[in-house]
Amino acid sequence: MKTEVKALVVGGGAVGTGIAYHLAKRGWDTMLLERDELTSGSTWHAAGLLPLFNMGYATTHIHKYSVDFYKSLEAETGLDAGFFVVGNLRMAQTQERMDEYMLYSTTAETAGVYHEFLSPAEIKDRWPLVRTEDLKGALFHPQDGYINPADVTMAMAKGARQRGVTIERKWQVDGYRWMGDHWRVSVTRMEDRGGNLLPTEDREVIRAEHVVTATGNHAQRTAKLLGIKIPAIPVEHQYIVTEQDPALVQWRSTNPQHPVLRDADAKWYVREERGGWILGPYERNAPARFEYGVPESFRADLFPLDLDRIEVEYMSMIHRLPSSETVGLKDDYNGPICYTPDGNPLVGPAPGLRNMWLAEGFSFGITAAGGTGHYLAQMMVDGEAEIDMASLDPKRFGNWMTTEYAARKNEEAYEHVFILHHPDEERPACRPLRTSPAYDRQKSRGAQFGQVNGWERPIYFGPLDAPEGFDHDTRSFRRGGWWQYAVDEAKAIRETVGMIDATAFAKHRVKGPGATAFLDWFTTNKLPKVGRINLTYALTDAGTTRTEYTIVRLAEDDYYLVSAGAWADYDGDFLRKSVEDMEPTFGRIEVQDVTTQWGVFALAGPNSRALLSAVIKDADPESALSNKRFPWLSARRIELGMCPVQAIRVAYTGELGWELHHPIEMQNYLFDLLMKAGEAHGLKLVGARAQNWLRQEKSYRAFGNELGRDATPLEADLPRFVDQEKDFRGKAAMQALGIRSKCVTVLIDGPADADPWGREALYTEGGEKIGRLTSGGYSVAFGKSIGMGYIRPDLAVPGTKLKVRMFRELFDAVVTEDSPYDPTNARIRQDG
Ligand SMILES: Cc1cc2nc3c(=O)[nH]c(=O)nc-3n(C[C@H](O)[C@H](O)[C@H](O)COP(=O)(O)OP(=O)(O)OC[C@H]3O[C@@H](n4cnc5c(N)ncnc54)[C@H](O)[C@@H]3O)c2cc1C
Repeated sequence: MKTEVKALVVGGGAVGTGIAYHLAKRGWDTMLLERDELTSGSTWHAAGLLPLFNMGYATTHIHKYSVDFYKSLEAETGLDAGFFVVGNLRMAQTQERMDEYMLYSTTAETAGVYHEFLSPAEIKDRWPLVRTEDLKGALFHPQDGYINPADVTMAMAKGARQRGVTIERKWQVDGYRWMGDHWRVSVTRMEDRGGNLLPTEDREVIRAEHVVTATGNHAQRTAKLLGIKIPAIPVEHQYIVTEQDPALVQWRSTNPQHPVLRDADAKWYVREERGGWILGPYERNAPARFEYGVPESFRADLFPLDLDRIEVEYMSMIHRLPSSETVGLKDDYNGPICYTPDGNPLVGPAPGLRNMWLAEGFSFGITAAGGTGHYLAQMMVDGEAEIDMASLDPKRFGNWMTTEYAARKNEEAYEHVFILHHPDEERPACRPLRTSPAYDRQKSRGAQFGQVNGWERPIYFGPLDAPEGFDHDTRSFRRGGWWQYAVDEAKAIRETVGMIDATAFAKHRVKGPGATAFLDWFTTNKLPKVGRINLTYALTDAGTTRTEYTIVRLAEDDYYLVSAGAWADYDGDFLRKSVEDMEPTFGRIEVQDVTTQWGVFALAGPNSRALLSAVIKDADPESALSNKRFPWLSARRIELGMCPVQAIRVAYTGELGWELHHPIEMQNYLFDLLMKAGEAHGLKLVGARAQNWLRQEKSYRAFGNELGRDATPLEADLPRFVDQEKDFRGKAAMQALGIRSKCVTVLIDGPADADPWGREALYTEGGEKIGRLTSGGYSVAFGKSIGMGYIRPDLAVPGTKLKVRMFRELFDAVVTEDSPYDPTNARIRQDG
């Protein structure tokens, strides 16, 4: 056996095989180890559907790549991948479901995914066995279909071998040790004995520069071996196969196969199988399995069928395909299907480890295998993928996560596969869990909460007597029932004063003799002077944006870094690894994650100064918050009543305001103090939705939307935060990338009842596709829809007229100047 490789892939399912293929294609010396046989994990019993439909941008690209790639495999390898391009018909029983498809449609256009809309009559005309009178229509993808999971895996394996990959079966990885520049991977040969797979005495150690784990249902064992958390835990998923349906057999004698049918509102997929049907439901109460690891005795086994659990979906198939009523069941499969708490796989660098890449938690692993291989190989070989893979990054889940949380959330993710994917959806399982102290106080004032990295944070404040499920019922693809509350909150910030709980912000303290030189290299902007703050960016080595920081310089070599709340571990991991790398150059640097030690209230609005002046303890309270003593973009230690506060004069809403960073244990005291003092100044509690709209009026880019690993800060049009005179990480790569597309803010004359969500396609007036929105919402200042996005650089000029695709129509939009609201920042700088 080969004992030295550049890349070792662990796991020979569809995903591992796809990765090995693409690493070899990029020229890496690669070996793949499989403890049993190729495809013996979940891959063998998958139904093989390849749905292009997906609401996420990165995942849409991944699925599209796979579907195109699988079609090319036979020509390359001579092996038939068993791809039946029968199309995919996604039906809608309600107008809301059609709204969902229309939102999907505009996102799909940005990724170039071809699709059509069909009316019930068109469906009936083409597939008369389908009952259509209670349908509103359907989305049709003629280019996808289903594939034989084993065949496509074998074709990828053959292609990988042809490109030099060594594939070793019956070798299990039992240990990983990082040696500073490579991994020592201990492996054991496995043997079939009496139907059991047992370890032998044969052991080897492999030296690998990089390791990728794609261990499917064994992810918990992998996590233990690596000493990290991987929230990939499988859930039971079953499908049943019927006997031949005579009506289907007869119809098929003169017609091609049915497309894969999906009745999303009935929560199932159906496809043809040898004259019968396969029904795959996503039912309620499917239990998580193997929470603490796969038992040794479980190989390519299945669980017993639980027909009762899928009775409702079974009946609804009979309703949709009446001819299936009399056909019996022929076969059933109930196997483990891996999930993660948000349903997306974990693809990218492992937390805390070097050269260790995870590809775990795939629930659509057959669909995703090719694309995952393609983009992960880009990350490993080039440093970054061409699309931002952050939405799949393993570190999007914090270290606070437990097995119990992952298991229950994964069950929820499974059950939610076919729910309406409202962009304003907040999923209920395992909540509340991470709460700031003022949670109850905010709740009693009407807060409706959303979740960010497990934290509960108010998204808007609804009625005090809101019944259970109020927020659920407000959701829509158009303006939801919460919209007016957010409008009122946004107006409060523009007209009086509002307070936002921003406790979820990620916060790191970086200090020590090497801190200044390190941060100067690590970030793009000039470092602030003591007592001042700066907005700045840390770049990837590929020159794109890795993190946005507000940096507060507390003392000469002492900094407080604030970044987006959703990304605490993602940011922390990058920061710590970078510090580790650079300490020998810059000297000792201490990094502390202080996220849970500091609460944050963001107070903003024209009355914010007067409100704070009423509670500040100072020799001269009147002048304590004046421009002279507390200028814009500075930080001061102040005392509000008895609470010591690190106040920062900055407001993400673009109004006069302060962020009040306070000891978390004093949060309730501070909350009560501000609420009481606020009565005289029109203080209103404000949620994250209003904040998201307000920041767009100021063209403030949001991390994960405008800012990510697919664009540089220059493309984000933020040259004022990039000091090109100094040396910083990623600078040369950033400059080499040039300006491929540019970030703009647009005002939109959209439909009367909807705003964009930030995923819509953008066109020229002549109908040429030139970009996409990355944020969207409503502007109270302009009384119309607003959005931010990326377009062709030559069009990124104020006044350019564009079109935005919403609900299958094109609406007028115009590129505004940067910060269309208060472009000179007069309101933020206002003295008093
Ligand atoms: C009933 C059912 C129907 C499904 N239908 C579809 C579908 O229609 N479309 C779709 O896209 N997806 C479908 N899926 C999901 C799909 O099966 C999985 O997403 C996919 O197979 C995951 O592939 P994988 O390579 O990640 O994992 P696996 O196929 O489970 O492969 C992991 C491999 O790693 C090996 N391994 C683990 N630990 C080690 C170790 N330490 N050393 C060496 N080897 C190791 C295992 O033996 C295994 O072979 C379905 C799943 C189920 C249960």
